[in-house]
Amino acid sequence: MTLPRLPLEDQVAIVTGASRGIGRAIALALSEAGARVVVNYQHNINGAAEVAGLISGRGGAALTHGADVCVPDEVQQMVDAAMNRWGRIDILVNNAGVTRDAPFARMQEQQWHDVIEIDLTSAFVCVQAVLPVLEQRRYGRIVNVSSLAGLAGNVGQVNYAAAKAGLIALTKNLARELAPRGITVNAVAPGYIETDMIEQVPDRQLQWALNAIPLGRFGSPEEVGSAVRFLTLPEASYITGHTLVVDGGWVMP
Ligand code: NAP
Repeated sequence: MTLPRLPLEDQVAIVTGASRGIGRAIALALSEAGARVVVNYQHNINGAAEVAGLISGRGGAALTHGADVCVPDEVQQMVDAAMNRWGRIDILVNNAGVTRDAPFARMQEQQWHDVIEIDLTSAFVCVQAVLPVLEQRRYGRIVNVSSLAGLAGNVGQVNYAAAKAGLIALTKNLARELAPRGITVNAVAPGYIETDMIEQVPDRQLQWALNAIPLGRFGSPEEVGSAVRFLTLPEASYITGHTLVVDGGWVMP
């Protein structure tokens, strides 16, 4: 008896910032659909190894790779490592991101530059490195992890909101430029998701958000992981330039 093929079988995905949180859930979701996954991390080598271990424990294939997504040479080495191991790349998920929150009047220039670099410029760097590989086979799925802040703004996050809005514009622009080459480019915009990132948000702000979310709870990393996975599946082949909001109905843009 032959088992049914998984939808992403044989495909190779790079997921940036996959050592924990949403990136970890994306890596696991893509692997469940059959993809071989490069689990990128910056500092958390143990977290990345755990994700790779979970994937291989379920019969999948994973490769951990430490790279700062803002540094072109490091990103190129990650792409080369994937090509050396598996000879192809089909999916890039630009997930790595940070916050450096402060009210606008007190925000330091360094906080601004760090977030623009890590949350926005990194996507430019990663797409530049992966694009020649995707173009060879005239196929690719790029998913950028933006944020509700990029659509609606958020007090204390002018740097983050600007970076995430930039990521949505980058998504639309690349969708237009890369469509003739068989590459779709989409974004997801999560609301508050239960990861390390929201531990820095003050309790009263979280409570205010909770009251405003129609579904009455924060999201899980897995709920973002399945939205990202959907955008990589054959079922999503006619969707490009889209931003899929995953926010429990909070903003309804
Ligand atoms: P998280 O738990 O803080 O994890 C961040 C991940 O990004 C880690 O794996 C970290 O790697 C990686 N990373 C940070 N800087 C990096 C760099 N320069 N190079 C490579 N990797 C780097 O965050 P999260 O909540 O999962 O967020 C993931 C994405 O979702 C981010 O883009 C975030 O903006 C977005 N998002 C999150 C929420 C939320 O409520 N949590 C809402 C909307 C959007 P190491 O740990 O190895 O250093």
